[in-house]
Amino acid sequence: MHDFKYKKNKLYCENIKVEDLAKKFSTPLYVYSYHTLIDHYLKLESAFSEINPLICYSVKANSNLSILKALIAQGAGLDIVSGGELFRAQKAACPAQRIVYASVGKTDQEISAAIGRGILFFNVESLAELKNINRIAQGLNKITRVAIRINPDVEAKTHKYISTGKITNKFGIDLDGAYKILLLRAKFKNLNICGLHIHIGSQITRSAPFVQAIKKVSNFIQRLKSQGIALEYLNIGGGLGIIYDQEAPQTAQIYANEIIPLLKKTGLKIIMEPGRFIMGNAGILVVKVLYIKHTPKKKFIIVDGGMNDLIRPALYGAYHQILPVRYPLNAKRYMQKADIVGPICESGDFLAKERLMAKVKEGDYLAVMGAGAYGFSMSSNYNSRLRAAEVMVVKDKAVVIRKRETCEDLIRNEII
Ligand SMILES: *Cc1c(COP(=O)(O)O)cnc(C)c1O
Repeated sequence: MHDFKYKKNKLYCENIKVEDLAKKFSTPLYVYSYHTLIDHYLKLESAFSEINPLICYSVKANSNLSILKALIAQGAGLDIVSGGELFRAQKAACPAQRIVYASVGKTDQEISAAIGRGILFFNVESLAELKNINRIAQGLNKITRVAIRINPDVEAKTHKYISTGKITNKFGIDLDGAYKILLLRAKFKNLNICGLHIHIGSQITRSAPFVQAIKKVSNFIQRLKSQGIALEYLNIGGGLGIIYDQEAPQTAQIYANEIIPLLKKTGLKIIMEPGRFIMGNAGILVVKVLYIKHTPKKKFIIVDGGMNDLIRPALYGAYHQILPVRYPLNAKRYMQKADIVGPICESGDFLAKERLMAKVKEGDYLAVMGAGAYGFSMSSNYNSRLRAAEVMVVKDKAVVIRKRETCEDLIRNEII
């Protein structure tokens, strides 16, 4: 569910016409619905209320400070993957004890900074990293909490670039490896190995892979318990899929019903790390049609937003619904098939291919739906294009939460 709906033939975000936003703030423009993102957070919270997990929103899905602040105010923690995201967490005033930190390649500086901040724990992805965190904590004279990220070797049934729980992926440690580490835990004098972490991938639409992974770790937890190795936390990661096209993903409630019994059995405090589920359908990218181009073989709708603004179609072949902001009357009679492409000098620069959609003309605005997660946060300045502005809509108010970049921003750090 989301708050981008047609009233008559005009697309609204909450109570504001998207066309008015495009005219006022120009395009390409990211538009977020506050009500939608909070609603998604609350859906998860209420589905899991029985076990009261700490919901650590995955910052990389959309790291805008206003979004972080809105979620933190609801009681969310944050899942971070870099020193930059730690900095953002701090700027958004996230209590340190609600921050968990994953990444296969944490640097010494990033580890020191996170220990200094007193985060809840690191999700550790290798033995080498574990040793390094121990060494750094020793130097700082601190004892630091860590959870071992388990690679449960399950098939997440998602795009191969966003599958992270197969044994051939770079993430996590296999169960045997984790077991060996836990037997040696007394050797890591400056670590408190307090939990396990899994995150098997993203845009997962069925609960079966989650259930399979959780069963594997919960059996492992029982085995550890029987040997006197007690843990405190189980971090089940994120990965919940959303509707982009025809998917029928599990709801938060179905997901909860399936896994709560398994989680309760572990007796551990549960952490989860949703990103896409909260933000994906809470944002759109609004673009303007610059030109319609006919070639002998194809029709191209050339718009002012491209792969530098939204890379998911180019990177994963991802599908995004694209809707006219003002729906033409009798649209059914005026359907066309076209590629919707950006201005970037790459043939991979497309938002949609061979898409059947309502006819549009130059100057019309289009809404690329489901662009709230991994949209702006993956955007770049490629082709020296200025990154888009971001606007948050709350009922009938629209607030700029990130200004459009200027040419000066482009060269800010360059030296001649
Ligand atoms: C990216 C990521 C998430 C969030 O994934 P979603 O599919 O957006 O829910 C959670 N945990 C970790 C460790 C991640 O890397």
